[in-house]
Amino acid sequence: MMKVETITRQKAELLAEIADMKKSRNAAFLVHNYQIPTVQDIGDFVGDSLGLAQEAVQTDVDVIVLCGVRFMAETAKLLNPEKTVLLAEREANCPMAQMVRADDLVALKGEHPGATVVSYVNTTAATKAVTDVCCTSANAVKVVNSIAEDKRIIFTPDQHLGAYVRKMTGRDIILWPGCCPTHARITAEMVLEAKGEHPRAKVVVHPECLMEVIELADAVRSTSGMLKYCAESDAARFIIGTEKGMIYPLKKRCPDKEFWPVTQEAICPNMKLTTLESVRDALKYMQYEITIPPAVAEPARRAIERMLQIGRDSAG
Ligand code: SF4
Repeated sequence: MMKVETITRQKAELLAEIADMKKSRNAAFLVHNYQIPTVQDIGDFVGDSLGLAQEAVQTDVDVIVLCGVRFMAETAKLLNPEKTVLLAEREANCPMAQMVRADDLVALKGEHPGATVVSYVNTTAATKAVTDVCCTSANAVKVVNSIAEDKRIIFTPDQHLGAYVRKMTGRDIILWPGCCPTHARITAEMVLEAKGEHPRAKVVVHPECLMEVIELADAVRSTSGMLKYCAESDAARFIIGTEKGMIYPLKKRCPDKEFWPVTQEAICPNMKLTTLESVRDALKYMQYEITIPPAVAEPARRAIERMLQIGRDSAG
């Protein structure tokens, strides 16, 4: 078995190698909250999909290394067409993003002429290209509320986030039958069991969860919203209903508070593919570069920029 000192030295050497290449490539690391802790620790920015999209616009580097899943890297590329955007792991895909195909969405639009298409950012660039406006879990309610009241809305691909938005806005929303397989693993029974074990804890869940889970929660938040909610709450204990990796940034942000995942089973395998070695290799070999054909990129970018504009308008 390898000694602890050897592992520590190897990791230090790897981190030094990454730091050198990062400097010479003039790169930044954008890291999602569900990534493994060692990858989160090297992030220039660690956040949720909305935060990553906003940071992608602001970052002043030549190369963005996206540690997350493909749609996040595509979004970064759409907003930074002149920069090189690398997805650290080629196979890091979001299964939910693959549950809606652009041509199927076009067919549904044909059945509901005049409807506005709102697509979660967890979609491919091709799907975004046939979308009117994107949203994230942090701004979905705000985006839907910004649409003229007489418009029907087609919401893709997450039926659970869509149902939550419908409940919060009272709007006429046609739901696409997609979902996040990781959040779908969290059940009401698991929440009740966790509440039984930690009766004084607040329950905070992600809006990708089933409605039966959302109805048991004290708060429904995106991952960045969870960080803010738990930091600002008077409570000291929380049961967290989202991908288990979220416990790490919560503990980092609130070291004096306690957090338990609803279940140890809520793990997204795609979010766990990226390692320090992946990041090193991404910079070393300039892999895996994201390219999007202009005919897809132009309309897809408009749908994301429209979302970002709604955020700016509502911020005053
Ligand atoms: S946690 Fe769910 S939505 Fe997020 S990348 Fe994994 S499958 Fe996709």
